[in-house]
Amino acid sequence: MDTEELTDVAEKAQEAFLAWRDTPVSVRTRHVVRFGELVRKHHDELATIVSKELGKTFDDAKASVFRGLEVVEHAYSTPDLIMGESLQTVSRNMDTYSFREPLGVVAGICPFNFPAMIPLWMFPLAAACGNTFILKPSEKVPLTSVRLMELAVEAGFHPGVINMVHGGKETVDWICDDLRIKAISFVGGNQAGEYIHQRGTNNNKRVQANLGAKNHCIILPDADKEDALNAVVSAFLGSSGQRCMALSTVILVGEAQSWLQDLVEKAKKFKPGKDYGALVSKESKTRIEAILAKVESQGGKIVLDGRNFNLPPGHEYGNYIGPTVIANAAPGMDCYDLEMFGPAAVCMQADSLDEAVEIINKNKFGNGASIFTSNGASARYFQANCNVGQLGLNVPIPVALPMFSFTGWNASMRGDVYFNGKQGINFYTRIKTVTARWNTDAKYQTVLSGSFPVMK
Ligand code: NAD
Repeated sequence: MDTEELTDVAEKAQEAFLAWRDTPVSVRTRHVVRFGELVRKHHDELATIVSKELGKTFDDAKASVFRGLEVVEHAYSTPDLIMGESLQTVSRNMDTYSFREPLGVVAGICPFNFPAMIPLWMFPLAAACGNTFILKPSEKVPLTSVRLMELAVEAGFHPGVINMVHGGKETVDWICDDLRIKAISFVGGNQAGEYIHQRGTNNNKRVQANLGAKNHCIILPDADKEDALNAVVSAFLGSSGQRCMALSTVILVGEAQSWLQDLVEKAKKFKPGKDYGALVSKESKTRIEAILAKVESQGGKIVLDGRNFNLPPGHEYGNYIGPTVIANAAPGMDCYDLEMFGPAAVCMQADSLDEAVEIINKNKFGNGASIFTSNGASARYFQANCNVGQLGLNVPIPVALPMFSFTGWNASMRGDVYFNGKQGINFYTRIKTVTARWNTDAKYQTVLSGSFPVMK
């Protein structure tokens, strides 16, 4: 889109804001409820679009739409969640109270890997809070967002309240620079996200940026082996590994090191085309193959190789990589240092739990980490000492429901205020505090004084 078209969108969103912020919060929320009902009604259709434009299997796409719908449903509680605070009689005849007010026009910049879920993290809550919204979907998967916009129109959102723009870097730069846009929600990789955070905050915008990841799990020898290996393999192969919470690094501790071959056998059972879909693009496949090409020269060992496998009938044109497992991974190797974002896990070894936790804490990312154990004390040690923002105890992908915030740490997040939960409301609002005095008693009339006023 050219600058003229983008400016037109921003002007319409700005104009709509003035009426939308004065619309009662319950009425705004009712629009979101109607929209949520439409997402539910068109669940299969949305999942089909996700599946067609991205390549996820239909079941996986359907589940991802559902996870987005849960966030929309969380926004139904906005009238409760947006309430401020009050304190009566902070001084004679004086009360103090605070409101949460919307910011104005806010924007969302989305990644390719969840074409429905990530937009649904953003605009329903932002709009319920009284903001108007400009959504920029990933240029790789814009069609799901187009359908979401049609559903927003059908739900009765006033013109200019929910808007969409298209494009890549130039559109992103415009979002960072246009001063009508007060805040940016970003989800995507580190390169783009760190740039957007910097450019947006330089323009005094509020920016929340959920970034890339390298999620580790620790398997202790006292874990339920079958349960742990099923969970871990599903968590690195599901969605062909194209999830920011994919469990891409497995640390086998002590005697659990002998479980590597069992893990490989389970990974072999996954059938590309049936159990997970194609990668988003040929570039993505080529990038992963380039990382795999370096594994052995960098000291690793590919124990299950997903390159050059026979494509399943009907999927001959898909960008597939088969299940892949790398042993002897270590820092300094590309397969460990880079986010692969494909159906592959790297495996490492540790002699003890604290050594395993130390490996995780040395990694620059901090999105998610899990432990598999039957020992409560080990789980508690992990919980207390692992410097990662979302932990799973015998849970492979610890993404909490949206009444909690999505709390990635370290290089997996830029900004201070998280998506979802109460922090989601905090991000899309700012607090106005009012101190009010309605004097009814001549005794407390203001007297002339040069001293700083104190409450009496
Ligand atoms: P990406 O960073 O390439 O793209 C995300 C958005 O940024 C897109 O809308 C794109 O148009 C824009 N963009 C890309 N390059 C840009 C540049 N140079 N300048 C300005 N804008 C640019 O991410 P992706 O490949 O679409 O998505 C995968 C990444 O997203 C992975 O790193 C994954 O971990 C991350 N992700 C993180 C979360 C989370 O919650 N932490 C969730 C989903 C995905």
